Amino acid sequence: MPNYTLKQASNLLQSKQISAVELANEYLTAINAQNPAINGYITLDTDKTLAAAAQADAQIAAGNATALTGVPIAFKDIFCHTGWRTACASKMLDNFVAPYTATVVQNLLDAGMVTLGRTNMDEFAMGSTNENSYYGAAKNPFNHHHVTGGSSGGSAAVVAARIAPVALGSDTGGSIRQPASHCGITGLKPTYGVVSRFGMIAYASSFDQAGPMAQTAEDCAILLNTMASFDERDSTSLEREREDFTRDLNQPLKGLKIGLPKEYFTPNNSADVQAALQNAMDLLKQQGAQLVEVSLPQTELSIPAYYVLASAEASTNLSRYDGVRYGHRAKEFANLDEMYSNTRAEGFGSEVKRRIMIGTYVLSHGYYDAYYLKAQKLRRLVANDFQAAFKQCDIILAPNAPTSAPELNSLNQDPVQAYLSDIYTIAVNLAGLPALSLPAGLGADGLPIGVQLIGNYFSEAKILGAAHQMQLNSDWHTQTPA
Ligand code: GLN
Repeated sequence: MPNYTLKQASNLLQSKQISAVELANEYLTAINAQNPAINGYITLDTDKTLAAAAQADAQIAAGNATALTGVPIAFKDIFCHTGWRTACASKMLDNFVAPYTATVVQNLLDAGMVTLGRTNMDEFAMGSTNENSYYGAAKNPFNHHHVTGGSSGGSAAVVAARIAPVALGSDTGGSIRQPASHCGITGLKPTYGVVSRFGMIAYASSFDQAGPMAQTAEDCAILLNTMASFDERDSTSLEREREDFTRDLNQPLKGLKIGLPKEYFTPNNSADVQAALQNAMDLLKQQGAQLVEVSLPQTELSIPAYYVLASAEASTNLSRYDGVRYGHRAKEFANLDEMYSNTRAEGFGSEVKRRIMIGTYVLSHGYYDAYYLKAQKLRRLVANDFQAAFKQCDIILAPNAPTSAPELNSLNQDPVQAYLSDIYTIAVNLAGLPALSLPAGLGADGLPIGVQLIGNYFSEAKILGAAHQMQLNSDWHTQTPA
């Protein structure tokens, strides 16, 4: 098993102890052996991977390599990547080969990274278990009878199984943090607007944000340095001075104020989740941080607000899949209307259809004020809660989910139950804040459990630094599946 962090892989390449082609081959061999059991990758293309690795070796030989040159990476199937099938794990895009590349992917390719493959996900990033994939569920590497979490389940699984050193995910309502938590890895959702959304297939545009998934917070910081950029082709991309997200990695935790939202520390959390939170609190205290209670009173309302708004945006974003220009087209139809409806009936899975129906309903004349407008107002209240809390603390500590990874087929029978499990992640997206999940122990069932560090706007460096300090003083992030 090629168990390298990004930093280790980079050092081996720079010191010429391994070539990019050798490293890629090591990973491809491990993928062949291990991927069938976890279904983390859904598209592989050995020739493309090895060609990119050979190019990286040429760059290294010519002396114009970056720290990322030759380091392999896995991309969630949501990112357009020229020449690669980009299906968003949907039948609708099963035949779609991207003609252009997402900015965030291009930034990493420009730095010389080598694409290992495309990772499994919930169809169009809608879901919390990765069971809504057209290509079948991804399986938790720690226990194949359990889900990975979702929607970036494939990315979490391949990093956890050590068949990719790092991966990209996307987080609309928790889809980086929650699977990272369930699979024992580290993942960061940046402040909305820090990373370009151009070429990342849209689910709910005012929430969607790409982020790094890795073994360590340090690797996440290194990747984010290259991922983040201003992009004219994304109208919500922020024009800011270049930032070094690794700058606080050596900042001690002494004196840092950690807020514990009382609405998040409830008996509804499983004993294992409570134990993981306690692990994190003990470690933070030991390192000299100060724990203070804070309150996020609108927590409960964030679920209805999110599911109204995200579904509304999804219903308009997904109207483009009509069988006309690209993607699936029904074979049988009598007229144009039937071509549209048969195409959409065949191409979308049931969860995607449910979201489109909810979204169309809440945007329709007569219901707009009652649902959409009200949800927008709640969104503001949720964001205000965080601003009040950040007057009392620097970083908020929170669970990612009320339990560890559920068993396969346990949550997908009941969509509302699945929506409720997002209670601790979606408020961050409603507010547009950065948040990170890092491992904080194994539960009694042997499944990993992570905790979240939530920061105020543009405090990525601060939460990455705090997580790195925690990882220097603990070994939960080094635990691998048996
Ligand atoms: N579980 C949430 C949803 O289904 C979040 C998904 C995401 O972050 N992409 O919408």
